[in-house]
Amino acid sequence: VSFGQNQYMAVIEQGHATLTLTSALRDTNWVTVRWSNGHDSPFHYVWLRDNCGCAECRHVIAGERMSDPASIPLDLIATDVVTVDDSLLVTWPDAHRSSFSAQWLAAHAYDSVSRARSRRPLQLWNAADVAEAPPTAQFDEVMSDDTALLEWLLRLQTYGFTIVRGMGSSPGNVPMLAKRIAFLRDSNFGQVWEVRSEPKPDSLAYTSVKLTAHTDLVSREAQPGVQFLHCMVNEAQGGESILVDGFAVAEALRQQNLEAWQTLIRVPAAFRYQNDDTDVCASFPVIRLDHRNEYFEVRYSNALLAPLDCDRDDVLPFYAAYQAFSLLLREPRFEYSFRLEAGDCEVFDNRRVMHGRQAFDPNTGRRHLQGCYVDTDDFLSRIRVLQRQSDFRLR
Ligand SMILES: [Zn+2]
Repeated sequence: VSFGQNQYMAVIEQGHATLTLTSALRDTNWVTVRWSNGHDSPFHYVWLRDNCGCAECRHVIAGERMSDPASIPLDLIATDVVTVDDSLLVTWPDAHRSSFSAQWLAAHAYDSVSRARSRRPLQLWNAADVAEAPPTAQFDEVMSDDTALLEWLLRLQTYGFTIVRGMGSSPGNVPMLAKRIAFLRDSNFGQVWEVRSEPKPDSLAYTSVKLTAHTDLVSREAQPGVQFLHCMVNEAQGGESILVDGFAVAEALRQQNLEAWQTLIRVPAAFRYQNDDTDVCASFPVIRLDHRNEYFEVRYSNALLAPLDCDRDDVLPFYAAYQAFSLLLREPRFEYSFRLEAGDCEVFDNRRVMHGRQAFDPNTGRRHLQGCYVDTDDFLSRIRVLQRQSDFRLR
């Protein structure tokens, strides 16, 4: 029996690797699997039949599904379930047979305990938590070593930012670092863009004024996921970098002003970016949760706010909530402020960590950063593939 892609999926959740199957009991609508730690997980028959990984149901080479969920009777009951060699073997009324490894079942168990265990490993932070020892990585190590790369990406996922040191001042190093993860995200600013004071700026970023903490490309349907800002020259006075954990601010808002938090999740803000040949708009809430009610993204940029388009009864609540969130994220306890030196690159989750900078005086010296983006999907894909490879190396 071949399990196609399911085999790969199983090793993603490395934390489950030690669980083994103890027993399987047939119930009316599901099989109850008991694990070696005494915990029980139900698996519905329709779910098991739908996820059969046999060569008939899933293409052996392409790994994609060929079975049709619409063909499974909702009242399907297995004729037999048995555990053999740490796998669950299921026999169906039409004599079709399915086999699921303990690893695969553990990785996909959907009881509440298992789902809570597989939450994203986010560490929310205040400035004081990271100022002494911010999460860092070394450019030459992540470029040359896959283990160092994986450790860096996991740190980036956990904290939402890292500072990569030892990048030097060569233009081109930042796309090289980003491409260690995946291909670059393009936009009207280009794949790689220069941040310096310009005479005819088409963004506030290209001036010397203070940039309050914000996320980038808020007026697009999908905000870029990972943002890279490589400091190549920093001789100007001022211009300190600011990072703010948007999820930490959102959570603080929830605790002290639940009504404002609920409004920012429900009522969309409007954003728009225009230049000579670009006009992009998007309306989304400032705080978004995913299907598990976990923080999904923060979308916040005063510079690109557009006229609200919402129910008239939501206008005042929106402004009250937006103001509460804005004042909160400016509190010094949330603002991690530091000076990027030449050779440093700040890398952050643009959909979680807001970034900004203090004003600088362009007459005191040059300040030149180079930046680019990688999308979240590709960032997470790289983590999964590296984990799969590291798991196979350990075997
Ligand atoms: Zn099958």
